Amino acid sequence: MDLAVIGAGVMGSWTAYLARQGGRTVALLDAYGAGHPRATSGDETRLTRAAHGGDALYTRWSRQSLETWRRFADERGVRLFVPSGLLWFAHREGAFEAESIATFDAQVVPYERLEPDELRRRWPQLGVSDGMRFALYEPEGGVLMARQGCREVVAAFAELGGSFDCSVARPARTDGRRLLEIATTGHGTMSAGQFVFACGPWLPRLFPDLLWDVIRVTKQDVVLVGPAAGDRRFHAEAVPAWADYDAGYYGVPAIDDHGFKVGPDRYGPLFDPSNGERVVDAESIRLARAYLRRRFPDLSQAPVVETRVCQYETTRDAHFLIAQHPDWDNVWLVGGGSGHGYKHGPRIGEYVLARLDGVPEGDQDGDDERRFRIGPRSPGSAARTGGDEMARAWELF
Ligand SMILES: Cc1cc2nc3c(=O)[nH]c(=O)nc-3n(C[C@H](O)[C@H](O)[C@H](O)COP(=O)(O)OP(=O)(O)OC[C@H]3O[C@@H](n4cnc5c(N)ncnc54)[C@H](O)[C@@H]3O)c2cc1C
Repeated sequence: MDLAVIGAGVMGSWTAYLARQGGRTVALLDAYGAGHPRATSGDETRLTRAAHGGDALYTRWSRQSLETWRRFADERGVRLFVPSGLLWFAHREGAFEAESIATFDAQVVPYERLEPDELRRRWPQLGVSDGMRFALYEPEGGVLMARQGCREVVAAFAELGGSFDCSVARPARTDGRRLLEIATTGHGTMSAGQFVFACGPWLPRLFPDLLWDVIRVTKQDVVLVGPAAGDRRFHAEAVPAWADYDAGYYGVPAIDDHGFKVGPDRYGPLFDPSNGERVVDAESIRLARAYLRRRFPDLSQAPVVETRVCQYETTRDAHFLIAQHPDWDNVWLVGGGSGHGYKHGPRIGEYVLARLDGVPEGDQDGDDERRFRIGPRSPGSAARTGGDEMARAWELF
């Protein structure tokens, strides 16, 4: 076996699929299956957006990845992307949205800057009077079907002859600077030339000495409210996906007649991804409603029709972790999605493979790649909603 990938979330599944496509023999293992409800990639939907403030790398990666998601979905004859567009609600000039516009200009990314009157005209269901300076509209943005995406990538991997198993794995026999085998619950030991541990929120448990202080795993509540009977104004055909950087909220319009999703972007308590009860707090529902009152007033009294508890596995600066194990040259640790990793799955897979092939750090995207190291890291927000407040909150755990 050339490569064993442990973890079939978005990062592991794309890594395994692309490796198999490139001709490697690959085993992919997951403790619970692909796209299961405990995995961070296992929710129904995830936003895809190019705006990352002044961060050129994530802007480029998200667009490259979206192209791959779209091509892959077309090849498979499935819908993995809902092209709803994406709106950023800007509270002020000169902040995240304006920085994103400068990056868009440099990378020739399509966008519109919309003033409140234009917003009112285009989407009368929006509340724009309270704290809205302008909006940044990304016509290319939208929603990825997350759980289904993982399952489809794993199915494509298996069709190419990749081996996928439901099994728990941990590092086992070593020889000097090489890991020789993993121990699995299903198949005894398994040897491979290289190993990728893409274990999302389980990484700190698997490598506690190395990663316990690098990745924090927190409970994240998501609330879906149901528009009134016959009201299609909050479905993806009628209103874009949206994010509010300064307020720390994001949301997904109703898709396939599910509810309208609102995520209050603040860290919940530390969370056990295996055994944590996935029941949302009343406070999360209160916060979601308070936000709806401002931006989507006609939904503020809408009933909660679904809830979801996921977990963030966040690094100190919210940059991903893609790093060689310090003791074993043939082992890579991949994760630290930090609340924004799903959309980048295809590009992360490509990047990991380049690193497995020994392409040196910095060759693909300049010195930006240093961001993915284990540490040391400084507090930061890495271009995700919640910004500096989230960076400060991380330090309090
Ligand atoms: C509420 C919320 C909203 C988010 N919104 C967005 C968004 O809008 N856009 C976006 O791009 N990203 C978003 N994210 C982030 C994104 O979902 C994650 O960054 C991404 O899904 C992480 O993928 P992963 O493959 O690293 O981890 P996971 O999906 O958790 O996959 C890890 C897998 O490893 C397996 N595993 C673990 N340990 C073992 C073991 N020992 N043996 C075998 N298998 C093992 C697990 O079973 C799991 O399936 C959000 C996250 C949350 C929680």
